[in-house]
Amino acid sequence: MRGDRWTVDDGWSNVASRKQQAARWPDRRPEEMTDMAEPAGARPKPTPETQHFWDGTKAGELRLQRCDACANVYFPPRPFCPACASRKVSVFKASGKAKLYSYVIHHRPVPGFTPPYAIAVVELDEGPRMMSNIVDCPQTPEALELDMKLEVAFEKLDDNITLPLFRPAKG
Ligand SMILES: [Zn+2]
Repeated sequence: MRGDRWTVDDGWSNVASRKQQAARWPDRRPEEMTDMAEPAGARPKPTPETQHFWDGTKAGELRLQRCDACANVYFPPRPFCPACASRKVSVFKASGKAKLYSYVIHHRPVPGFTPPYAIAVVELDEGPRMMSNIVDCPQTPEALELDMKLEVAFEKLDDNITLPLFRPAKG
């Protein structure tokens, strides 16, 4: 089951980052990631707050939200701006361009998926960070260079969920 790739576990202590103290999660609190990091075996489930995001990936678009009041761009989806609490927010199509911010390589076998595989945090060109997987790339520290340029690649899991994955940017 490909959805298992969205599993996270105790590997946080191995998270690679350019920051020395980055044995911990960089900026976001882990509970803010729960939409994208379900427990083992679970798939993301669209909610009213995240429906626009999953509708977007299904249509081949990476959709983010921007605050109409302060222009803050944020992720994961929520109905108010995390910076100023305004509820005047708009959904827009992101470029799909990103860079590799940090990652952890998992060596633990998962049913239906062959280790090692990397769970990555990518920083979108628009600013927000997102947890994902890097595809079309060896899952090794040599190949996974921090700050490498990435582009979104959509992978359909089922009729409801298409995952936004990232691959090395071409050209
Ligand atoms: Zn705002």
